[in-house]
Amino acid sequence: MRDWREGVRRVEPYVPGEQPSERRMIKLNTNENPYPPAPGVERALRELDADRLRLYPDPEAGILVDALAEYYKVKPSRIFVGVGSDDVLAMAFLTFFNSEQPILFPDITYSFYDVWAGLFRIPYRQVPLDEKFQIRPSDYFGENGGIVFPNPNAPTGEELPQEAIEEILKHNRNSVVIVDEAYVDFGAKSALPLLEKYDNLLVVQTFSKSRSMAGMRIGFCVGSEEMIRCLNDVKYSFNSYTMDQTALILGAEAVKDREYFDRTRGEIMDTREWTKGELRRLGFCFGDSRANFIFAAHERVPAEKIFQALREQHIYVRYFRKPRISNYLRITIGTREEMRELIDFLEHWLPSANEE
Ligand SMILES: *Cc1c(COP(=O)(O)O)cnc(C)c1O
Repeated sequence: MRDWREGVRRVEPYVPGEQPSERRMIKLNTNENPYPPAPGVERALRELDADRLRLYPDPEAGILVDALAEYYKVKPSRIFVGVGSDDVLAMAFLTFFNSEQPILFPDITYSFYDVWAGLFRIPYRQVPLDEKFQIRPSDYFGENGGIVFPNPNAPTGEELPQEAIEEILKHNRNSVVIVDEAYVDFGAKSALPLLEKYDNLLVVQTFSKSRSMAGMRIGFCVGSEEMIRCLNDVKYSFNSYTMDQTALILGAEAVKDREYFDRTRGEIMDTREWTKGELRRLGFCFGDSRANFIFAAHERVPAEKIFQALREQHIYVRYFRKPRISNYLRITIGTREEMRELIDFLEHWLPSANEE
């Protein structure tokens, strides 16, 4: 007799960073923003009309798409929104990565890419970063079924210069190239201008990091009108109402407040540079992160040991027990006070920590 278990779609799921609910903790483990969303978001949340929830939301997500179109100076027909950029990326994988050729992405990168490839049965090849954790454009010049990488890359924080991205695009006119810009607002250069020249480019961004709205789940991408149409065809074949009414209203509010956006991300960039100086002084090594985190190894003390010691102090950072990066910690940039507490603890603890 046939067992139902034989018909189950088996997948190796993505493991999100932990979300502890302690009252006093310093949470630097999932790259959330330490500042609240823009004041207009809170105002709109208080004024929400519960009766509006009787109705389905606008399937085209008009108010949010229009706010984004205005901010990024592109036509609304070139924007697609989703439930966090994870949803947008998953839809894009499903829509554009549909060939026999393997898709390409770095060996050290966002650990959801191989999970989606597994889920959708997309063949893939992980391309090793060079010894300085940089993407080498020429590694992406061969035949492939598509390309995806974050810029800045996660969890390294390294930025790929725009010329290098253009090199990859030039050599891949017949593949879709997805640039995942989850962290681009913290000082890297966006690939958005390249959309004028390349109709096979898709630029994905999120409200989760730079716009302080990880809990609301809003992501979007910008591409050619044709690509956006393809994405919508897949979306409407799956779930027409991905964006709920609250997300549409609050998301549009967040985009409107440019001043707050610029001020808070500026604050995070300043704190990042301050933290780099302090970590260097304490014997950490790291690249020139352009994201809201620093990916650092200590010259003497193993990462896992530091991770545990910080945990005991209720300071949460991210540790990946994975090849090539098992001696690194990914430390999210919090407020200046949070980073000062982290540094103060390390300053006292590191000298007493024995090597292993
Ligand atoms: C955080 C992150 C995302 C997804 O964020 P959402 O919360 O789903 O918008 C996507 N890619 C990278 C590289 C990320 O770090």
